[in-house]
Amino acid sequence: MTASRLWIKDPMAIFAQGAERGIVVHDGFITELVGAGRAPSTRCAEIFDASRHVVIPGLVNAHHHFYQTLTRAHPQAINKPLFPWLIALYPLWARLKEDHLRVAVRLALTELLMSGCTTAADHHYLYPPGLEHAVDIEVEEALKLGIRITATRGSMNRSEKDGGLPPDSVVQDDDTILADSERVLKLFHDPKPGAFARIALAPCSPFSVTPGLMAQTAKLAEKYDCQLHTHLAETDDEDRYCREVYGKRPLDLLEEVGWLSKRTWLAHGVHFEADEVARLGKAQVGVCHCATSNMVLASGVCKTRELADSGVSLGLGVDGSASNDSSNMMEALRHALMIGRLRYPADQITHDDVLRWGTEGSARCLGRDDIGKIEIGRCADLALYTLDEPRFSGAHDPLAALILCGAHRADRVMVHGQWRVVDGAPVGIDLAALMAAHAQAARAFA
Ligand SMILES: [Zn+2]
Repeated sequence: MTASRLWIKDPMAIFAQGAERGIVVHDGFITELVGAGRAPSTRCAEIFDASRHVVIPGLVNAHHHFYQTLTRAHPQAINKPLFPWLIALYPLWARLKEDHLRVAVRLALTELLMSGCTTAADHHYLYPPGLEHAVDIEVEEALKLGIRITATRGSMNRSEKDGGLPPDSVVQDDDTILADSERVLKLFHDPKPGAFARIALAPCSPFSVTPGLMAQTAKLAEKYDCQLHTHLAETDDEDRYCREVYGKRPLDLLEEVGWLSKRTWLAHGVHFEADEVARLGKAQVGVCHCATSNMVLASGVCKTRELADSGVSLGLGVDGSASNDSSNMMEALRHALMIGRLRYPADQITHDDVLRWGTEGSARCLGRDDIGKIEIGRCADLALYTLDEPRFSGAHDPLAALILCGAHRADRVMVHGQWRVVDGAPVGIDLAALMAAHAQAARAFA
């Protein structure tokens, strides 16, 4: 934490109003915006010259599966849509052990951090025997790296023998799931502003979880005041499954189990009808748009404009690294703009929109108003980019250039007033050693 005041001075551009001469950071929070022609009102012991940097709020990744970094570009899964892709990968994922998960989490979080991400949500729903402490591992690794996490205690209780998609070896029963959800909520869920760790509850999807577990999970979230998360309306196959098995559409199912509320954010939300978009907006549900994954799995194009206009909290995520197959949050913003241009007129999805969705919008999905925006009182979570690579040469609008020229790597990243990336490198991480350990772990999934 910065004990003394730090002035991040004279940025080349900044994604904030009235901060032309930069911002002041103190004790982990933003304490002043310095407007044009002004200087900080209080003396700052430290000054960071940001004249080479474009400054934005730290990016917030609202959906991921960290463990999937171990099965990127897997020959058994590539070039398939969601259901066959999942069926190919479940037996491989069933091999996951604690040591694999730990190194996968460390790699994914480091990769996210380097792209400018300062808060990440992870949806971990895979619990083969021996992996009971998955959430504990995720929180430990995030705290060590100094990045904020919403670790979701995911779950699957409907396997092949009950008409679900996953094999029996990766699911758990209701009592085990609910007891462990309570355990991790008590241990790690910190509702305070500036929290580094929060817990959300996340039954996986309509084809791997029973409605009974969804309803019980919603009650638990109410009791502990935490967010709810699940995959919904991702593919046509899911829609068909819901009609055949439950006789209704995915959103009707969600409403029936008590999930249509501000507490809930959904991954994907590709296949909603107009009336469903309105219902989601009225209930202020969050939707995390994962453009890259939707393109890789040929899932469809999310109605981002209608969702955002309806009152939905629209956020962005990279999704798991087996359907992306990277964890670059800046790329997620670029892809959200690009895929949006295939559906809407060019002025309907702008670089401002995707910058807002990937910061403030994602923060709202996670139930947070203390991060995601450069504003007095919010956490000092920042991503700073230089435009000194060939891809930016000749660019005129620095903020638009981040998205249109395709910024990939932040030069500096600050979380709660602490620099976590300096000169493009994660602080305190031996990147070569981490990659070697991760590549070694991935061999178990060949
Ligand atoms: Zn996902």
